[in-house]
Parts: sequence; structure tokens; C-alpha cells
Amino acid sequence: MRNFEQGRVWNRACLRIVAKGFGRAPSLKLLRKRPATGGQAGAGKKDQIGGDIALCTVSPHFFSGMFNFTTMPGFNRSDSINLLSKLTFRRAWNGIRVLGSYYVSKWTKSPVQWGYPVSISFEPTTSCNLRCPECPSGLRAFTRPTGMLQRDFFTETIDQLYKDLLYLVFYFQGEPYLNPDFLDMVSYASGKKIYTATSTNAHYLNDNNARRTIESGLDRLIISIDGTTQDVYQQYRVGGRLDKVLEGTRNIVKWKKQLKSRTPFIVFQFLVVKPNEHQIEDVKKLAKEIGVDDVWFKTAQVYDYENDPNHLIPTIDKYSRYRKTENGHEFKGKLANHCWRLWHDPVITWDGLVAPCCFDKDAQHRLGNLKEKTFKEIWNDGEYKQFRKNILKGRKNIDICSNCSEGTKVWENS
Ligand code: SF4
Repeated sequence: MRNFEQGRVWNRACLRIVAKGFGRAPSLKLLRKRPATGGQAGAGKKDQIGGDIALCTVSPHFFSGMFNFTTMPGFNRSDSINLLSKLTFRRAWNGIRVLGSYYVSKWTKSPVQWGYPVSISFEPTTSCNLRCPECPSGLRAFTRPTGMLQRDFFTETIDQLYKDLLYLVFYFQGEPYLNPDFLDMVSYASGKKIYTATSTNAHYLNDNNARRTIESGLDRLIISIDGTTQDVYQQYRVGGRLDKVLEGTRNIVKWKKQLKSRTPFIVFQFLVVKPNEHQIEDVKKLAKEIGVDDVWFKTAQVYDYENDPNHLIPTIDKYSRYRKTENGHEFKGKLANHCWRLWHDPVITWDGLVAPCCFDKDAQHRLGNLKEKTFKEIWNDGEYKQFRKNILKGRKNIDICSNCSEGTKVWENS
């Protein structure tokens, strides 16, 4: 790919320029406590899907992982080099234009968009095998239909975007491996030199799927493991089996070695809450013993953090987004009236709805439908513009934005 090779020369220089600006926006997979109730802009946090108490797993994106040393979960040289190898001149230039649009919009309070998504989150399916009590997939609580992303629709969409697109976050809601075409779609995106990442509960990583995962070219595999003993693990992962997670991880490590592959970068993601905080050292040991590349500790979002009725806020301060006050807890971060996510990283549901970000799990804010319009039409359309405009006016007026961790530190290195 000629453009790809030429692009390498420019990449380093361009990245030095853009590095500081990129990196503020991890993607979000919000996990909450009670069934969906729907919600409208301005309705307030309790009207969103889920409930008063939330665990939020934020998935690191390219720029948060690469350049921002306050929000990044960790830095791995080989993974970073792999990521940079996907950067073409066109993709870097697109990134600069997107970043420029973002800052101009932020300063003028008037939204402009000169580029196309640098990354996207694509939903393989809304189905899930587990019953996690704070997740809409686990609760079967969506108001939108449950279904599987179709291969043809996926490839058509990727064909529209891949020249500018660097990073595919190949998960949103649901368990990706339940989609029978999932790994074929990963292969397709890999063939377009897009960095691909997914997150799984690791219950389907049998020997065959583990081998196919390596062969698909997947670049990053995030395995959710929120406990190192079955009793702690199943407190949140209802219906899950820790032994399957460990077996699946071992299969991946085995095939990665056997096929002499540098990818995927394998990560254990551990969402730290009070019930599992005593297992932080144990999960590090477990990862080392199995051969997992890294462990990322994610701070939890608790909706009713003032009262913390379910005692989820960890006692270890560095793993908490909240600080103790005389009357309870307060949020450590700030809610600024801007959102980098809206400029570079949309969500596409399995059936083609375009949503602003991973916080909008039920796609309540529908910015377009790819079954009706092209992505580029939607990206520059009135709905998207209006949403960006609303953010710049006041983030607290939009339900999903009024309690989101955009711009807040959510990862902790051990
Ligand atoms: S500020 Fe709003 S649009 Fe941006 S990430 Fe948060 S919830 Fe999503």
C-alpha cells in the first residue's frame, strides 16, 4: 500500500504536533443497576438506562492510550509501535483536521467539523451470555432491538470510512464473540490496516476461537476479569465462570506463542470496587503467571456517589473517582462544556444507528441511520451539528453528558 509506506515518514512529525491534543476521551461502557427507563436530553442522570448506581468501564482509545499520560491506562512499546504502523499520511492529516475542528469549535462555541472519525465503536451484537446486574445487555433492558451486526453492512460501512479511520473499537454492548461472523469482520478491518480492539468476557475463547482470533489480526484483546476467585468474580459477572475466563486466556496466550504473533496485545481489565479491591495484587500475579501483557485498573463510576448505598466506592483513594467529605463523597473531576468524543469517535449500533458515544447505550440520541444515509451525510448533518452545539452550550443540560467521565482520569496503573 503505497500511501501507507509514504505515510510512515510523515507520521512521527505529525504526531508530535497532534499528540498533546489527542488523548482526552476514553470510550465508555456504562453499567448500571436497574432496568431501562429511557430518557431525554435534560432529563437528568436517573432517567438514563440503568439506575442510580453505576459501574462504568472505560475502554481506552488510541489517543488516550498513546499520548495522554494522565488518562492512559498504561504504555506498551510494542503495542504502540503496532498502532503507529497503521497511520498513513491521510489518516494523520485527517486527525489534525479533526483536532483543529475541535479546538476551533471549543474556542468559538460554534461547532465545525473538517475531518472524519479517527476511531469508531462498532457494535457486533447486543446479545450477551451473562447476566451482569448493572448492564443493559445483562438485564435484557434495551428498548432497541437485540440483534447481530451483518457482515455486508459492516464491510460497506468500513469501506466508507477506512481511508481516514485508524482505530476500530469493535464492541459496545453485548459479547462480541456471540456474533458468528465477528472474527471474519475483524479480519476484514485488519486487511484495511485499521487497528482493531475488542473486549470480551472470555467465555467463548475455546481452542478454535483462540487460534482464529490470532489469525484474524486482532490488535488488542481486553478481557474483563473483576475478581480472582469465583465468589468475588460472580458478584458482578452473574452466570460467569472464572475457570472459563482463565482457560480462554490461556488458549489465547498459547496460540499467540505458537503462531509467533506479536498481536493481540492482551489485557486484563479489572474494574476496582470495594468488594474486589483486596484482589488487586492477586490479579497482577495471575496475569503474570498466565502471560497476559498488562493489567488495567479502571475506576468505577457510582451514580449516587454522595451516599454510595451499595458500598462500591473503593477505600483506596487512587482507585476512586470520589473523595470523602464530611457528609459522604464528592466527585474529584469537573464537567467542562466540551467533548472530544463528539469530534472523533462515534458509535454505530449493530443495526446502523449512529449515537454520540458509548454512554448512550440505548441509542436514545440518534444522530442518523446508516441504513438511510451515508456516514459522511450523517457526520455533517443537522442532528450531529446540533448535538455538538448543545455540548458547547452546556454539558449538564444533556442527560448522558451530565454524569460522564469525559475528561476525567479513569485509569490507574498499579
Ligand atoms: S460528554 Fe456526552 S457525548 Fe461526550 S462522552 Fe460524555 S456522554 Fe458522551
